[in-house]
Amino acid sequence: MENKRIKIGLTFPPEKTDKPVVTNLVKYGLTFNILKAYISPGKTGNIILEISGSDDNIRQSLAYLEAEGIVVKIYTDSVIHYEEKCMHCGACTSVCPSGALVMNKETWELEFNMDKCLLCGHCVRACPARAIKSFDEAIL
Ligand code: SF4
Ligand code: SF4
Repeated sequence: MENKRIKIGLTFPPEKTDKPVVTNLVKYGLTFNILKAYISPGKTGNIILEISGSDDNIRQSLAYLEAEGIVVKIYTDSVIHYEEKCMHCGACTSVCPSGALVMNKETWELEFNMDKCLLCGHCVRACPARAIKSFDEAIL
C-alpha cells in the first residue's frame, strides 16, 4: 500500500503538554518529523509535524489525537503566494532553507514546492511585496 505524507498542526490543551502523545503515533505505524514545536508545561502548546503512513494509519492516528483532546489541523497549503503582487525578485528563495521556493531559470518566475516546505515562515517575513501569506498566522 502506498504511503501518504501530510503536514499537520496540533494544539495541545495545557494539561496534555507533558504527556507522550506524539510518541504514541509510532503505535499506528506512522513515521513523523517534528517541524516546529512550542511546548511549555501548563500552557497551550503547538506542534507542527510531517507524518507519513497508509491512509488507514493516518486516519486512526488523527482519531487518536482528537480523542486525546488535541485540536488537529491538516495543512494542504503551507504558504499562499499571491502571484499578482509578486515581483519575482527572489528574496524569498534566499531565505528558504529547504529549496521549496526557487526561481525557474528559464522564465525567472517563482516556483513553490509544498512537499519541500518546512513551514518555517521565513519567506513570509522576507517578502518586500507582502506577496506571501502564512499558512497559519498564529504559529509564526
Ligand atoms: S520575495 Fe516576494 S516578491 Fe520576491 S519573489 Fe518572493 S514572493 Fe515574489
Ligand atoms: S515556509 Fe519556510 S520552507 Fe516553506 S517556502 Fe517559506 S521559507 Fe521555504
